[in-house]
Amino acid sequence: MANSKYAYVRNYELPDPLLPGCFLMCRLDGHSFHRFSEVHGFTKPNDERALQLMDHAATDVVSEYKDIVLAFGESDEFSFLLRKSTNLYNRRHAKILTTLTSYFTSCYVFHWPRYFPNTPMQYPPSFDGRIIVYPDERSIRDYFAWRQADTHINNLYNTVFWALVQEGGKTTTEAHATLRGTVSATKHEILFKQFNTNYNDISPRFKKGSIIVRQVLPEAPENPQDDGSEQSLDPQVPNQAAIVGPKKGGRAKIGITVLHCDIIGDEFWTERPYILS
Ligand code: ATP
Ligand code: ATP
Ligand code: MG
Ligand code: MG
Ligand code: MG
Ligand code: MG
Repeated sequence: MANSKYAYVRNYELPDPLLPGCFLMCRLDGHSFHRFSEVHGFTKPNDERALQLMDHAATDVVSEYKDIVLAFGESDEFSFLLRKSTNLYNRRHAKILTTLTSYFTSCYVFHWPRYFPNTPMQYPPSFDGRIIVYPDERSIRDYFAWRQADTHINNLYNTVFWALVQEGGKTTTEAHATLRGTVSATKHEILFKQFNTNYNDISPRFKKGSIIVRQVLPEAPENPQDDGSEQSLDPQVPNQAAIVGPKKGGRAKIGITVLHCDIIGDEFWTERPYILS
């Protein structure tokens, strides 16, 4: 098998190494999820079950690939940061991108029935993926700030848009027209005056997105999840800390945690200097 006369075709496979010593950011995004969300009856503007399913699939990816130090998700997308010294698959671009993308997609489909027990999947979803190579800490901070700012901007727009449609009786065309060119303060005002909604009271999951990080877990001697069994993310309990892969032994436990906090300011990063080290 090794040296048949056909084996020369292998020489057409070109190496595709990613630049050494740089951070690798892998972002996945659902293909045509506007349609997928409609076909599967996602609640608008934010279907919490769908977001929890995304978090679960992403937590599985983080658990499987130890060199992922941080992940951020919103809507149908997730970004995974690999530490700059990672030697995963010898930094082969296609190998890393395709395995992460397909593993995430499998996990999404695998866990679907748990979050949508009464909604059979109508067709198999897919995700696209890309890897961006970043040279320094500043660009990583700015990358995550960019995604979280995007989460906020989209969520504010979508929250007002769907209030106008669902409660205000407008058509989607009219709602878009109402919001065209409005600044953030105007959207807050519409929400407050017309729909008696204070944007600040909306779930942090929707406003901030999901941050998945490895960190030392608080002491939990009788932790029922600390049995080495499969992780359990309970779809009934929003904003919970998801703990997977518990380490045995007397030392502090490192777990994978899902947060919905600010990552634009310094606090998150100064509390976790190991992320960018
Ligand atoms: P593309 O293939 O170019 O990514 P897309 O239809 O997936 O196209 P996106 O910009 O990725 O477009 O937007 C994803 C869309 O999926 C959102 O606009 C929203 O309609 C829908 N969506 C994703 N997650 C949720 C959710 N949790 N709740 C409600 N709708 C969602
Ligand atoms: P890598 O991740 O590097 O691809 P691998 O374990 O998948 O590692 P491959 O060279 O791709 O290695 O070989 C796939 C292996 O999967 C085969 O050697 C065989 O052991 C197993 N396998 C795949 N398909 C079948 C099948 N239909 N029946 C039995 N075994 C199979
Ligand atoms: Mg896209
Ligand atoms: Mg998409
Ligand atoms: Mg998207
Ligand atoms: Mg194989």
